Amino acid sequence: MSEMRIGLGYDVHAFAEGRALVLGGVEIEHPVGLAGHSDADVLVHALMDAILGAMRAGDIGAHFPDTDAAWAGASSIGLLARVGDLMRAGGWNLVDADTVLVLESPRISPHRDTMRIRMAEALGVDAARIGLKATTTEGLGATGRGEGVAAQAVVLLERS
Ligand code: MG
Repeated sequence: MSEMRIGLGYDVHAFAEGRALVLGGVEIEHPVGLAGHSDADVLVHALMDAILGAMRAGDIGAHFPDTDAAWAGASSIGLLARVGDLMRAGGWNLVDADTVLVLESPRISPHRDTMRIRMAEALGVDAARIGLKATTTEGLGATGRGEGVAAQAVVLLERS
């Protein structure tokens, strides 16, 4: 019988001037980007933590520490590909993943499918296995005030 595991990931990054906005591996035209050691792709960070969580393999802070200059300005989608390699090396297959971005702006729907494809390609899975939604918090809290972006991800992994 195959072994199934679920994993949950969550991340938040603050908006900052002079930064590109990269979400789901896609650079989006926006007046501000997200602050962070890497490219601060909050959606990909949540997805990586969900996968590592399902593998019981720690978190992205352990694998790609922000104290390590090697990861300064790193492309998070490239790190996701590394997590995909770890996943396969451990005998795991990604059965399904769903994600949500929490932000007031920009609008995600024009970029949704490109982001899903970009993340699926990094993981070597069909884009049908990666879901993405976006929601606002109706003006409430830090994301509601437009101070940053939060993301959540849940995955199901299987190993036979
Ligand atoms: Mg992060």
